Parts: sequence; C-alpha cells; structure tokens
Amino acid sequence: MLVSFSILEDIAREVGGGDAVVTSLVGRNTNEHVFEPSPDQVRLLAHAQLFIVNGLGLEGWLTRLVAAARYGGPVVIATEGITPITTTEAGEATLSPDPHAWQDVSNGIVYARNIARALAGVDPARAEVYQQRFGHYEAELEALDRHARGELGSIPAEKRRVITTHDAFAYYGRAYGVMFMAPEGVNTESEPSAKTVAALIRQIRREGIKALFLENISDPRLMEEIARETGAGLGPPLYSDALSGPDGPAPTYIRMIDYNTAALKEGMLKN
Ligand code: ZN
Repeated sequence: MLVSFSILEDIAREVGGGDAVVTSLVGRNTNEHVFEPSPDQVRLLAHAQLFIVNGLGLEGWLTRLVAAARYGGPVVIATEGITPITTTEAGEATLSPDPHAWQDVSNGIVYARNIARALAGVDPARAEVYQQRFGHYEAELEALDRHARGELGSIPAEKRRVITTHDAFAYYGRAYGVMFMAPEGVNTESEPSAKTVAALIRQIRREGIKALFLENISDPRLMEEIARETGAGLGPPLYSDALSGPDGPAPTYIRMIDYNTAALKEGMLKN
C-alpha cells in the first residue's frame, strides 16, 4: 500500500498491522506542499495495490502522478466524509478547503475508519481483523482527544492565542479552543520581506500575543528575530504536516498530538 505522507503512513500501520506493507511518498520531517515525485516513486505507484491520499487539495500533484504511473487501482481519500474548514488564500476570491483535517483527532478517527474499509476492500479475507484493529485504535484516539481537551480547557481563554508561521492548525484550534493566528503574508514558499516582518511585529503587539511557535518545516530565523523585537516567548517547534523520525518527539500521530498539546500548554502558561 502506498500513502502520500507520514501521518497517513502511521494511521495505516495501526490499522494494517502486520498484514499491510505501507510506504509513504513524502518522508518524515518533509514539507508535502512542495513535493515532486521521483521516477522511482512513479514506478512504486505503478505496482501498488492501494493508494491512500489525504484529499482536500493537499496532494496538488495527484492527478499527474496517477497518469504518469498509469495506476488503475483504488485511490482512497482519507478525508472522505469530513466537513472541511474553508479558507481564502491571500489575494484570492474563492474559498478553498483547508487540508490539515488530521489536526482534529475526531477527524483522525474518520481517516482510520476509511483506511480500514479500504484495506478490507482489497483484502476481504482479513476484513474482520482490520475492523478489530480499527476499533482498538479508535478507543486510543478517543482517549487522546479527551486528554487534549482536558489539558487546554483549564487554561484561561485570553492566554490561548498563539502565532505560527504556517497556518496548519485551524482544525486543532476549533476542536481544542485555541486561537491560532497566521502572520499575514508570510508563507512557507517565500522569504518574508522586511515590510512583512514589521507588520507581523505590530500584529503581535496589538493582539497581545505571548507565545510564538515554529513548525518543523519552516525557517526558524524569522521567528527568532520577531521574538527579540517583541519580547514574546518562542515555543518549541510544533509538528503540523509531517511526523518526526523514530527518535524525535512526534514519531506517531498520537504522540504528535500529545507533543503539540504539551508544547502549547507550556508556551501559553509561560506568560
Ligand atoms: Zn500544511
């Protein structure tokens, strides 16, 4: 089975157990927004039995890759059945879905259910095994969701305001009551201008934001400069779009959510 990125890889391994060989196109600690499939990866998909993607526009390269590989097998959308949050990109009039749905653990349960169903579809003899593993994992995810709610719910609402460089936490914020502010005009694709940085510093002072968080896919130098200018605290990197390696703090989906929750709580209570 081929999946598009590391969060799907971990969820698919939980549900597939020893019965599924799972390979991810985009690696850990890697930004999937700028992914370019290699010729080897095209061949990998050509021979895959099942291909699982996030959907909601995350894999902008999907149609081209499927055509290049002449892949005729099932393409399963892990977010099928999720109601997306929609956003407007700077300078665009149309709404587009926010793809980062996995940041709300109740959506992570939908991902796992869809993957279990897809595995049963290509391997019907083990359908019951996949369903059992899903049931066990679902209970773990429900406990994770309750834990995150409890950890953040005890923090005063006015402290639950943070800025991140990459706007990937809208689902997390809605689920767990944290206001994530995206620095306007700053994205992961281009270097921010001096004018953008100055506007961001004004925004932090105006909104009274005390905690700034980096992500594992963004350049940290910008945030360090802003922290110096505003006196706002710099939290540890949050994991948004990719898991860490096995020795890092976010090697699985569950540990990623736990790690982010603990880091946010610590950052918000520092001030
Ligand atoms: Zn992202």
